[in-house]
Amino acid sequence: MLRGRCLCGGVRYEISGPLSDVLNCHCSMCRKAHGAAFRSRARVKATDFRWIEGEELVTYFESSPGHHRGFCGVCGSPLLGRVDRDPTVYGLALGTLDDDPGIKPKSHIFVASKAPWFDITDDLPQFPERPTKAP
Ligand SMILES: [Zn+2]
Ligand SMILES: [Zn+2]
Repeated sequence: MLRGRCLCGGVRYEISGPLSDVLNCHCSMCRKAHGAAFRSRARVKATDFRWIEGEELVTYFESSPGHHRGFCGVCGSPLLGRVDRDPTVYGLALGTLDDDPGIKPKSHIFVASKAPWFDITDDLPQFPERPTKAP
């Protein structure tokens, strides 16, 4: 069982299954949504994810058609993304985890949109946009 929460602690969740497709996304929308050089995210099955507390605080912003970014309406922590075309999976903002998921990002995507003030210094594969098949 993995647990996480937002900065203010008003929203808490737990995950009962494995995370997959862990990556760092450097697209401009992720950078703005997270106020950071990139967003680290993992895929989680919707059936493995459960809000424990504060689901009513989670606010969704539709950053592109059908792509909803959920964040805490009180403190602003990015929490969860969902897409209309596949409601069976969520994109989890790794930074909100309290537990160690035991896996680490395996690639950088949307590197063509990377912030000019950030250098990638690891040896993970880099993709200019979204790879056709996520590593
Ligand atoms: Zn919060
Ligand atoms: Zn992105």
